[in-house]
Amino acid sequence: MTQIPSTGMVGGSRDEVPARVGRATGEDKVMSDDVRVWIEQKLCTGDGLCVQYAPEVFEFGEDGLAYVKQKAEGELLTDGEQADVPAGLRLDVIDAADGCPGNCIHVVRTADGVEVAGPDAA
Ligand code: SF4
Repeated sequence: MTQIPSTGMVGGSRDEVPARVGRATGEDKVMSDDVRVWIEQKLCTGDGLCVQYAPEVFEFGEDGLAYVKQKAEGELLTDGEQADVPAGLRLDVIDAADGCPGNCIHVVRTADGVEVAGPDAA
């Protein structure tokens, strides 16, 4: 897997993000479904990979851990709260979950809550 530098850049240039690392299995199905995302903050390493992949969705909190943004207000969601993922950002969010070194980004299908990317995905 391609490594992303662990320091320095938050919400930086998309040109610096390496090629996607999404799974081959089931991805087409995932991409057609609405999904939601949440972060298990206690496992977050604060490396910032998710913020690099999808700065529209993830942001660092004052504690140095990554949080999901509340879509309208720009506020950060608390531990375990879920947010809808815009269709155009699904792949970026799934890639972030697949590459998350803390294994703590959960992407679940909106319709039935089944985890499609993250530590509890089949
Ligand atoms: S990729 Fe995972 S471990 Fe890294 S900052 Fe984001 S949520 Fe935390």
